[in-house]
Amino acid sequence: MNMKIDPWSALNIYDYSKLFTEFGILPFGQLLPEIADPHRYMRRKIIFGHRGYDLITDAMNNGKPFSVMSGFMPSGRIHLGHKMVMEEIIWHQQQGADAFVGIADREAHSVRGISWENCRDIGVNEYIISLIALGFEPHGHIYFQSDSEQVKDLAFELGSKANFSELSAIYGFTGETSISHMLSAVTQSADILHPQLEDFGGPKPTVIPVGADQDPHIRLTRGLGHKMNMFKIEGREDKGSRRYFSIRSKAAPEDALKELDDRIPGRTKLFEGHVDVYDLDDFGELLRIVREVELEFGGYAFVPPSSTYHRFMSGLQGGKMSSSIPDSYISLTEDPKEAARKVRRAKTGGRVTLEEQKKLGGEPDRCSVYELLLFNLIEDDQELARIYNECVSGQKVCGDCKALAAERMEKFLKEHQELRELAKDRLDEYGL
Ligand code: SF4
Repeated sequence: MNMKIDPWSALNIYDYSKLFTEFGILPFGQLLPEIADPHRYMRRKIIFGHRGYDLITDAMNNGKPFSVMSGFMPSGRIHLGHKMVMEEIIWHQQQGADAFVGIADREAHSVRGISWENCRDIGVNEYIISLIALGFEPHGHIYFQSDSEQVKDLAFELGSKANFSELSAIYGFTGETSISHMLSAVTQSADILHPQLEDFGGPKPTVIPVGADQDPHIRLTRGLGHKMNMFKIEGREDKGSRRYFSIRSKAAPEDALKELDDRIPGRTKLFEGHVDVYDLDDFGELLRIVREVELEFGGYAFVPPSSTYHRFMSGLQGGKMSSSIPDSYISLTEDPKEAARKVRRAKTGGRVTLEEQKKLGGEPDRCSVYELLLFNLIEDDQELARIYNECVSGQKVCGDCKALAAERMEKFLKEHQELRELAKDRLDEYGL
């Protein structure tokens, strides 16, 4: 059965293995040994999948330039789910990435009907202030879509390569879908690709940390980036089974092919519409030359954007987090005591009676209190493992866990809100 992921309807996807088989997302665990000091989301398999993240590990390990980018739609209160993405952006910034955060006001306005004034207010007072309070450094870029000429111009260019059938196949758009809604899809692709524009240092690997529901955007954008490029490189075999590379022109001027033929070292052959390269021993060098020539002839030479996918946190009452059910989520701007109260009333994986709990143990994998500890409140893996083991072996009672999680949540929010007050005075450092 086909599984459609719709980024505008916060689906809770429980069966993540389908994402590997049906959508070609790769397991993140394979890359873990390449990462010197992985984030707790990586260590704990909360980030479970990726596309093309090997480009990012290569950049991190070899001092090459790379970017991290993600966006937030200013449509409601900032909650722990947004904090996850912000932490991922900040972690990559600390590893050397040029970091970009877009406030998707065009999307909020076109899809949710939120006024421009409210977009600005929510964007700054909910999202940006918390982002700064969580540690985003001023050398990164924070912008509103509607303010960025680069993003708007690129969105228009990308729109020429995206058609209605493609968007409908990915997002389920119908004849009733507004043009602005469609435009907001290509605007998000422009968000993702614009760190590679000349203004920001040119083509480079860019990672987009997202929830699995955002994968359609990533696939669309990888496809659009590919379509925008002048060349594609194909691995081929001749009649004598010798392997070679063929650089095919998609929209390149003839002179650009001639330039490639001149610059690529070793044996090359120029044809109409393509250059073939034989006996190549450094594919990276070939890529570099092709991108260099494309840029000189006015092309984009986009590197396909990479992505990481994280699990969703469930709602405090079980099921999905929902902005229409305040008890299902914790906002970073709510009263810390009220948040602690929500934690104490959250659904656990405990048994009906204490006797059963002692005999059978609890079920931390179905416990929203354990999830809070796992995702947010315990950094030390050993402390977390101890709680898990004490739960499954029946040594722990839910009341103790709730008290611990409530106390830590209250402390975290109190400190975060103090940092938010300081962040409010620092907006000008970020050009806001
Ligand atoms: Fe959850 Fe703790 Fe209860 Fe186990 S003991 S089910 S981890 S609240």
